[in-house]
Amino acid sequence: MKSGAVIIVGGGLAGCEAAWQLLRRGHAVHLYEMKPRRFSPAHKMETLAELVCSNSLKSNDPESAPGLLKTEMRELCSLILSAADQTAVAAGSALAVDRNAFARGVEDFLLAQKNFTLSREEITEIPVGEPVILATGPLTSDALAQSLGVLLGGDYLYFYDAVAPIVEADSIDMTKVFWASRYDRGTPDYLNCPLSEAQYRNFRKELLAGEKVAARSFEDVRHFEGCLPVEVLAARGEDTLAFGPMKPVGLVDPHTGLRPFAVVQLRRENSAGTLFNLVGFQTKLTWPEQTRIFRTIPGLENVRFARMGSIHRNTYIHSPSLLTDALRLKKNPAIFFAGQITGVEGYLESAAMGLLAGLFASFVLEGATLSPPPSSTALGALLHYITAAESGKDFQPMNINFGILAPFARGKMRKKEKHALLARRALEDLDDWITTHHLQQ
Ligand SMILES: Cc1cc2nc3c(=O)[nH]c(=O)nc-3n(C[C@H](O)[C@H](O)[C@H](O)COP(=O)(O)OP(=O)(O)OC[C@H]3O[C@@H](n4cnc5c(N)ncnc54)[C@H](O)[C@@H]3O)c2cc1C
Repeated sequence: MKSGAVIIVGGGLAGCEAAWQLLRRGHAVHLYEMKPRRFSPAHKMETLAELVCSNSLKSNDPESAPGLLKTEMRELCSLILSAADQTAVAAGSALAVDRNAFARGVEDFLLAQKNFTLSREEITEIPVGEPVILATGPLTSDALAQSLGVLLGGDYLYFYDAVAPIVEADSIDMTKVFWASRYDRGTPDYLNCPLSEAQYRNFRKELLAGEKVAARSFEDVRHFEGCLPVEVLAARGEDTLAFGPMKPVGLVDPHTGLRPFAVVQLRRENSAGTLFNLVGFQTKLTWPEQTRIFRTIPGLENVRFARMGSIHRNTYIHSPSLLTDALRLKKNPAIFFAGQITGVEGYLESAAMGLLAGLFASFVLEGATLSPPPSSTALGALLHYITAAESGKDFQPMNINFGILAPFARGKMRKKEKHALLARRALEDLDDWITTHHLQQ
């Protein structure tokens, strides 16, 4: 390994972005990428920065959450965004790219940097270095995942993502739902959506008939009994759900004074109470089917989804307990994590955590301290979500969305107006942070 260089493992979106942030501040980088010697089950191209599935980086609208994250990353001179902008294809308000030109653009740009070394080899043990950035993504090779398990402890490394949908609080019809905990134990922390018997039967019928995502060959998920997809439970019997995640015991609907036939319980996803998850509703239904079927639940007829449910292969760590707010491993601060392995989800979000890891590592090398970006910014909100998630053991990956930005104390307002204000505040706060830390390009 090249001495004096920061070692980065994984040449995906996060690893490449982290490399560029270090290089542009004058640091040397040695990047290890296992392709083309070894491919994960989803990677196919030999180049760095491969988009494994869709060629879209989502909305470019600066007043959408993904658009805001893009604007912030452009302000910090993101390589991934600059390559994407240069190779964009027509896609309405989304930023979609020519995937070959994009990946080639990122790789050629990095190879042209004089302090950059690329080794095409699989890393199987955690490298020793000052510092090391691990950015091996959702399909980290088995050997390295095993070493990570030893370093972190098996309980802190996850291999599957069983995610229930998350909805935005201000889109729930509060006139139909009620706050309660079962048997009035503790504080009434759950929002309960009550279903009559007819509504329950119809809901189950829709779950069974709804279109499901087919598992990819490498996603032969053996479901754990504790987190079975809701449609698998529905298929087990007429009343399995009503005795499982939808059981109404210990709950009385204050609108009727009666126990509902079944309930869907919603639990806070963040301390601000802007997001709620549907408890026990991990699912393999397609996204349009989730939207259609879950909107038949009383109170959720017009709900907005912050993220959809899913079950798929995904290697990620329990960042809230393992990482500092500078993406450093608490028990060995020489090791940084970046990308999807930190518990964010999505191309852009992964690159964003690469950008921050690269900056944090640069500051360490410079003997300086970089404070985390404010959680009113998209970058800061993602970082805050993964390193301070209140979800405990249930920590699950997250896309960027307005619900995770620090809320502001304003009265009720229309969604469009609120998003515009959140975006404006984010950019002002980001500019202050950039100025404070002299991060101007
Ligand atoms: C099948 C699949 C489809 C997805 N589709 C989408 C989508 O359509 N849109 C979206 O926004 N997100 C999608 N994602 C989610 C995710 O955001 C992307 O996977 C994203 O590429 C993650 O970026 P990353 O840099 O963290 O990891 P990656 O881009 O996967 O990069 C990790 C790199 O590390 C290398 N590597 C792994 N182990 C080692 C090792 N031991 N030594 C050396 N190199 C190693 C890999 O070869 C890879 O190049 C998908 C994920 C999967 C698994």
